[in-house]
Amino acid sequence: MQMKQHDVVVLGGGPAGSTVATLMASAGHDVVVIEKEHFPRFHIGESLLPATVNIFERLGVHEPIRDAFILKPGGKWLYGSKEVPGEFSNYDSKATFKQNPYSYLVERSTFDKILIDRSIEVGADVRFGTEVTELISDNGRVTGVRCVSDQGAEYDLHARLVVDASGLRSVIPSKLRIRILTEPHRMGIYAQYAAKPTRDDMKAGWFIGQMFYDGWTWLLLLPGDRFSVGTVMTVDRFKKSGLSPTAMLERLVKENPLLNEGMTADRERISEVMVTGNMGNSSERLFGDGWVAVGDAAYFIDPCYSSGVHLAMKSAEMVADQVMAQPKDSMIEASLFTQYEKDMRHHEKTVHNMVDAFYIASRNTSVQKMVTSCQGGYFSRKFVTFVGGDFQKNSSYVSRIRIYSKITARLFGNDPTRAAENHPKYLHQQTEPSHEPAELHTANETEHAGASANLVSESCEKR
Ligand SMILES: Cc1cc2nc3c(=O)[nH]c(=O)nc-3n(C[C@H](O)[C@H](O)[C@H](O)COP(=O)(O)OP(=O)(O)OC[C@H]3O[C@@H](n4cnc5c(N)ncnc54)[C@H](O)[C@@H]3O)c2cc1C
Repeated sequence: MQMKQHDVVVLGGGPAGSTVATLMASAGHDVVVIEKEHFPRFHIGESLLPATVNIFERLGVHEPIRDAFILKPGGKWLYGSKEVPGEFSNYDSKATFKQNPYSYLVERSTFDKILIDRSIEVGADVRFGTEVTELISDNGRVTGVRCVSDQGAEYDLHARLVVDASGLRSVIPSKLRIRILTEPHRMGIYAQYAAKPTRDDMKAGWFIGQMFYDGWTWLLLLPGDRFSVGTVMTVDRFKKSGLSPTAMLERLVKENPLLNEGMTADRERISEVMVTGNMGNSSERLFGDGWVAVGDAAYFIDPCYSSGVHLAMKSAEMVADQVMAQPKDSMIEASLFTQYEKDMRHHEKTVHNMVDAFYIASRNTSVQKMVTSCQGGYFSRKFVTFVGGDFQKNSSYVSRIRIYSKITARLFGNDPTRAAENHPKYLHQQTEPSHEPAELHTANETEHAGASANLVSESCEKR
């Protein structure tokens, strides 16, 4: 019996996987999506960018997203007591989001379900509760995957192309041992709280973040008087604190000005505390014979600019467009993705440069002064266009920002005492005994968090 060959098997049904599936199934391709969870399911990553709204329009999902979520006019950073706002309507003439200078704060469980429901609607075969466990190869070419459903059924699927959209699990690069951990090692600790917002900008849908020395916190309003609350810091700082993730987050909620003052005092934690460890990672290659990686499965960059969902959907769109430009039923050569990899590396480098500048500023009050004094005018518009998701357009501007930051930091020193208000005691010094161990994973973290943190550190080589 001749085995069936699908056009595409997509590994993972998050924003990257559903984008590939919707675009290709709409164009008449035979697409199967294998997703190990049942939707809706929790996922972190709720603050979106305006450049992604163009992709929502193309997928036909803008209307349900607009109906379900809070409009986000921009993002605001607190540098100590100073505010640095980036309002999306303050774009420059090159911005791709002039028609829609706003985005959304989303609950990912609902958002991801809207996206995958659209894939099903246009004809993709989506199999939830099914995990890809093995790759099938023939002469070095990936020709399919082995799947196991949560009912225990095991079967193989074959395809002209396997798209890895498995997020931080990065199934194919991990199996090929080409996943790399990038320095420095940072981690995210987060949970949901029930409370009311105290700030008007928060009520109006702004993303608010606060820098501290080499890290940051976020506070973001979700529907129904709930907040997504979290922090990103170096693994080293976390370990030195001697606190558990839960104790660290609760201490921040008590003592960090944004988290403490942004929510009403009757706040209550309504989820477990979750952790994503070792957040910077990449893959040596983004494609090979018979496969290509999109979204977090390709690489993951520190989320301080909320770039993850946009990069996931943009990379998926780029891959789908490349494949759809080929004659149907033709062999998909690996060389088709050479330009894709080039473009993705450009995005990766540019966003990394901006993230570097962000952390230089977090450590140095002189750089912070430089940034706060450049508010308004040309620099702000360039910055907003970049953080709105147009990563391809402003790389020379971003390089300059990074160089200015480095020079300023070198000229005026990088002494933490100069940035005392960003370097509060509670972050680097234990002030009361903790009865929980300073480990990344404790009993009250979810499987989800433990699994992703473990997996990333296990499957990556160190760079
Ligand atoms: C602390 C933190 C904060 C963040 N904040 C933001 C933010 O504010 N804004 C933003 O844009 N991004 C943010 N991100 C990043 C964002 O979460 C990701 O970039 C985004 O979810 C990537 O989408 P994806 O489709 O590539 O992967 P995912 O959304 O992770 O989807 C991958 C899917 O693959 C499935 N899967 C995995 N392995 C298998 C397997 N073997 N078989 C079958 N299915 C499998 C998973 O169940 C999952 O549903 C944040 C990340 C972290 C860690």
